[in-house]
Amino acid sequence: MPDSQQQPSDGATADTTALVLCGARLADGRTVDVRLSAGRIEAVGTAGSLIARGARVDLDGYLLLPAPAEPHAHSDTALTAEGPVPYSPDDVQRRATEAALLQLSHGATALRSHVRIGGAQELGRLEAVLQARRSLRGLCDLTVVPVPRLLTGVAGADGLAMLRDAVKMGAGAVGGCPDLDPDPSGYAEAVLEVAVEHGCPVDLHTDGDDPARLARLAAMVAGLRPGVTLGPCGGLSRLPADAAARAADQLAAAGVSVVCLPQGGCGGVEQRGVAPVRLLLSAGVRLAAGSGALRDVSNPVGRGDPLEAGYLLAAQSGLRPADAYGAVSTAARAAMGLGEVRVEAGFPAELLAVRGERIAGVLSQAYSRSVIHRGRVVARTSAVREYCDSATAVVTELPRQGRSGADPGA
Ligand SMILES: [Zn+2]
Repeated sequence: MPDSQQQPSDGATADTTALVLCGARLADGRTVDVRLSAGRIEAVGTAGSLIARGARVDLDGYLLLPAPAEPHAHSDTALTAEGPVPYSPDDVQRRATEAALLQLSHGATALRSHVRIGGAQELGRLEAVLQARRSLRGLCDLTVVPVPRLLTGVAGADGLAMLRDAVKMGAGAVGGCPDLDPDPSGYAEAVLEVAVEHGCPVDLHTDGDDPARLARLAAMVAGLRPGVTLGPCGGLSRLPADAAARAADQLAAAGVSVVCLPQGGCGGVEQRGVAPVRLLLSAGVRLAAGSGALRDVSNPVGRGDPLEAGYLLAAQSGLRPADAYGAVSTAARAAMGLGEVRVEAGFPAELLAVRGERIAGVLSQAYSRSVIHRGRVVARTSAVREYCDSATAVVTELPRQGRSGADPGA
C-alpha cells in the first residue's frame, strides 16, 4: 500500500525520479501539468506552469484519471480457456504474470486475485502466484487471496491449517466460498477466525441467492475490521424485489463492500447474472466492480479490462459515467483497503491517461492508454486508426481527441 511521507515540493533539488505529465485534461475540464515525485503527485498546475525536472510525458489529447484497480481476479485459472490446462507451478506463475500484465496494460495498477488452495496442488498455486507477485514488483501490486474448498468437518481441518499457512506465506486477505461447504456458517466462522488472528481483511465469494444465509453472514461480519468484501452477489438479482431490498439493507448495515462482476461469472460461481447495482447503491452499500474471469472456462472471452466493467455499469445498469468509473477506480481501491487517489498534490501517483476528452468518451472507446504506477509510466498502448481510400490509396489520419484509435488487440 503506497503510503509514504509527503515529499518536499520546493522544486529546487535534483530529483531523478521526477516526471512531469504535460497538458493533460482532467475530468473537471481543466488542462494541467502534473509533477510526480517519489511515487506521489507532487504538484498540479495549469498547463505549461510546471518546470520540467526530470522526464516529461506529453499528454495533450489525453484524459488523466485515478488509475483503476482490479478487486476480483482469478490469476491461477486465467488464460486457460483454450486448454489443456496444466497446473504446474511454472505454468501457473507464467499465466498469472501474463494475466496481470494484461490487466496492467488496461490500467489496473493494483490487483486482488483469488487463488484456490487445497486439492492435489495444496498450496502450489498460491506459491506460484506469490512468485508472480514478486516478479511484478515495481509494475503493479498484486494481492493474493487464498480460497479453501472445505473448512468444516474432518476434511475441513486440513483446509483450515492450509489457510493459516497461506496467510503466513503472504496472502493479503482471507478468502473462500462458504456456499461450497456443507456448513456455510461454520465455514464463514472459520474464515473470520483466521482473519481476526492475523488482522487480515476478508474477501468471500457468494452468489447471494439465499437470503437467510446472506443475513447470517451479514450479521457475522458486521463491523469487522479491517474490512469485509463479498462478491459477486449475482444471485441477488434473481430474488424477489422485497427480499433483494432487505438483503441490500443488511449488507449496508454490516458495512461490507460488494464487488460485482458486470462481465459475468468467475471461477467460483457457475451462474450468470450481475448484482442489482442500483438497488445496492440506493441502500447505501459500498459497491465496486471487477472483471472476474480472464479467459478461463467460466468466461473464455474475459478481457480483464476495468474500463469494460465501467462501460457495462453505464450501458446496462444505467450508472452515470463518472459513477461507473468510480466503481472500478475509487471504490475498487477502497474495497481493497488501498489509499484514495485524486489528481491532487499529495496523493499516490497511480494514474491512467486515456486518449479522449471526457469519462463518457473513454468508457465508450479507450484504445490508447498510458498507465502510471508509483510515479512511473509502466505500460503504454498506442493505437492509430486510418481510413484508406482504395481508389487513390490515400491514407488519412483522423484528428485526435477520442475519435481516433483502432483496437491493437483485434
Ligand atoms: Zn471469483
